[in-house]
Amino acid sequence: MKIGLDYDGTVTLDYLGFVSLVRMMRQRGHEVYITTMRYISECKGDLEFCAFAKNVDGVIATGREAKKDYCLKYGITIDVWIDDNPRAVEESAKEIWGAPSPEGVVVIEDHVTGIPRTVKVEPLSPSHHWGISWIGGEETLKTTSGV
Ligand SMILES: [Mg+2]
Repeated sequence: MKIGLDYDGTVTLDYLGFVSLVRMMRQRGHEVYITTMRYISECKGDLEFCAFAKNVDGVIATGREAKKDYCLKYGITIDVWIDDNPRAVEESAKEIWGAPSPEGVVVIEDHVTGIPRTVKVEPLSPSHHWGISWIGGEETLKTTSGV
């Protein structure tokens, strides 16, 4: 089974809980991909994101596009989606929110507090990106995973 796991508003609500979940599911033979509407640059600029991404099979960063079609474009059929916003599977950020945030500005919904927070990201050193498989977008890096 291939699992598409959202990051913002999902993993961010219980980071360590999702690390445990991802490791357990991968040990059981399943593949877990981060499926996010972030741009790859916004993933690479976030240290916590990169640390989490070392636990999964790949990162699929759609750049505000709908997740399902984007994954299919890269030959990945997700069987189960874990996402705080189910609309993001079928619809783009523009369709959901009207005016998506520009590249470099990540809006993270917090469903516990109800208060969204905005994070601006800058690129990190490439050493933070080792061990992460980036799928689609500008590049694909494949190295050994640290699970
Ligand atoms: Mg989300």
